[in-house]
Amino acid sequence: MDKKKYDYLIVGAGLFASTFAHEALKAGKKCLVIDKRDHAGGNIYCKNIEGINVHWYGAHIFHTNDKALWDYVNQFVEFNRYTNSPIANYKGELFNLPFNMNTFYRLWGTKTPEEAKKKIAEQIAPLNIAAPKNLEEQALKLVGTDIYEKLIKHYTEKQWGRKATELPAFIIKRLPVRFNYDNNYFNDKYQGIPIGGYNKIINGLLEGVDIRLNTDFFKDKAELENLADKIVFTGKIDEYFDYQFGELEYRSLRFETEVIDAENYQGNAVMNYTDAETSFTRIIEHKHFEFGMQPKTVITKEYPLIESKGVEPYYPVNDEHNMALFKKYQELADQQINVIFGGRLAEYKYYDMHQVLASALHKSKLELNVQ
Ligand code: FAD
Ligand code: UDP
Repeated sequence: MDKKKYDYLIVGAGLFASTFAHEALKAGKKCLVIDKRDHAGGNIYCKNIEGINVHWYGAHIFHTNDKALWDYVNQFVEFNRYTNSPIANYKGELFNLPFNMNTFYRLWGTKTPEEAKKKIAEQIAPLNIAAPKNLEEQALKLVGTDIYEKLIKHYTEKQWGRKATELPAFIIKRLPVRFNYDNNYFNDKYQGIPIGGYNKIINGLLEGVDIRLNTDFFKDKAELENLADKIVFTGKIDEYFDYQFGELEYRSLRFETEVIDAENYQGNAVMNYTDAETSFTRIIEHKHFEFGMQPKTVITKEYPLIESKGVEPYYPVNDEHNMALFKKYQELADQQINVIFGGRLAEYKYYDMHQVLASALHKSKLELNVQ
């Protein structure tokens, strides 16, 4: 049999795919990376506008507790000391996020952890929530009714397009609740933004790897499959199997980006609009990620979107119905000896970047048989 041109055809040029390609190249393998978009990087891609690195698919802050992952990304780029501290805007009133003593003071005037805990406990007591069954119950149990009403319920229902009672509890546990005056959105030891943008990481990972952009795997499947011995697939797992059990749900977003002729628009990188009436969920002002001093500024409004075919799938909806469906696709995936499935879409997980990186390193080590 003829030897194929590549060892791996890697579908997608996002973080998972690029990491796998980098590790495979190091192990002496030949890879072809394809992406249907006109750029590499997947959702961490940055576009330079007015000298500002615009996070083209929404705000991305790298954070991890794992020193090995931190060292891995630092091979390709230096990180700054950015700490994510979003502001919540509820009908013109501003609150610090995540939920901490600053938030509680602004809401209730409480000054000590004891006072704040008492206030929350008073609100939780009548609710009698033992084991939270959904996001609403989980949020109420964590922070009480005032914060739930002003900062969680409407933001969540806008973002996910469904009732908070119909969403899994784990989603709200991504956010810390703190009884100190720390506005850091993450608890991780390492956090920052790559100086010069995320493309530096992707370019570093893909150095020496063959890439074809504007190439949809499903449009030229037969030809592409013929090029390599094995496939690494980072697109939608349900699409890979031709939606044979039905479609998995994803939440999508519409980004509206504009250049503003002002040096500083909102004084912070991220402002969440937590009321029901404002149709967008947040405004990102990109220059603040890198402490930019450019004369102009670029902002992006994020509008939630219900996905119908052809719209970008950004967030897997990991509720019971979808997880049962995913399990069926995963069983099929497990039978594919020549295909490796990885990343947010193929593993159907609400992964952050460090988790995608960890998964790609783990799966590439297993596959390439390296230590
Ligand atoms: P992706 O980046 O989605 O890459 C998949 C690639 O595959 C895409 O480029 C796609 O075009 C391509 N593709 C799909 N199907 C095909 C096909 N048929 N043919 C060819 N190509 C195909 N993480 C953090 O750590 N911190 C954050 O602050 C953060 N903020 C986020 C904000 C938003 C709005 C979103 C959506 C995500 C955020 N994330 C954040 C998560 C982060 O974006 C992901 O964890 C990571 O980028 C996923 O990488 P991936 O390689 O799995 O997938
Ligand atoms: N959330 C909220 N209010 C906020 C910010 C977040 O209720 O101001 C909830 C919302 O349900 C969201 C979840 O917390 O989906 C996780 O927030 P995160 O910032 O991690 O979401 P992402 O960055 O992935 O969009």
